[in-house]
Amino acid sequence: MPVRAKFMPKLIASLLFVFNLPAIAESESKKSLITAAPVLHTTGVADRLYRVDCGRSVTHDMSIWTPGQNIGKTAEFSSSCWLVKHAEDWLLWDAGVPDASANDPKGWTISRFNTYYLDKTLAAQLDEINLTPNDITYLGLSHIHGDHIGNVKLFPGAKVLMQRAEYEWMNSGDGANTDTDQMKALARELIGTPKHLMLVEGDMDIFGDGSVRLISTPGHTPGHQTLLVNLKNTGSIILAGDVAHLARNFSDNVVPTLNTDKKDSIESMRRIRTLLSEQKATLFLGHDKTQMSTLKLLPDAYD
Ligand SMILES: [Zn+2]
Repeated sequence: MPVRAKFMPKLIASLLFVFNLPAIAESESKKSLITAAPVLHTTGVADRLYRVDCGRSVTHDMSIWTPGQNIGKTAEFSSSCWLVKHAEDWLLWDAGVPDASANDPKGWTISRFNTYYLDKTLAAQLDEINLTPNDITYLGLSHIHGDHIGNVKLFPGAKVLMQRAEYEWMNSGDGANTDTDQMKALARELIGTPKHLMLVEGDMDIFGDGSVRLISTPGHTPGHQTLLVNLKNTGSIILAGDVAHLARNFSDNVVPTLNTDKKDSIESMRRIRTLLSEQKATLFLGHDKTQMSTLKLLPDAYD
């Protein structure tokens, strides 16, 4: 079993650096476990947090996200990426819907569940604050669903942070579920073989000062992770990834049917609730259109 550090210092984390790691056989895959809610002692802060519009999606069967309810009902989700400025570093959290699909009226269809639309490219939004993709030093991926990894190849110089469990799942063989097999094949294509791939096991203190932390939250996918960002004036923000899509999913422990593990999903939501309480943090649900419409959008930022 690997040693699982609750908050892995930057130095130790660097030992997990791999270069062009080959595909990992399914037999080697390890299931991610949930650690106890951490006690956070360090109080570093990041400089700024930007919300980036990374698309929107339309589903024709909302019941996938609300089992037993809203059968056959159409709904729209937002898709959000996030940009964190920390000293000289820029960390992009998730890489959205591919820029190549921008302004395509047919949208980008990656599964039978929903179609994505992108109104403004990620590159154009970075340019609004005078950044180029080369300025992004870290690219954190909450998980490997297509709407979170569409532009990974736009950032060949970035250190790509993902959970080892997610990477191994992506590279595992086909199973009984064709939708999952297609999704994993798309993920392999979109992620490719990053030059600087950091495979994380459990939680990680990215900059070593407690300001920005990866929190392991499996359930939506086997290696799903969440980001906790501490800011001086705004306080702590938790970027939920797909731990929950909508506020009601989170408040009522409603688990979408497409999640890979219901028990882990509920446990991850419990863990986030504990962190919210301990850190007096605010939860940002990137797919919740209602909440996202109330938040600042790049070039505005939280500090
Ligand atoms: Zn997802």
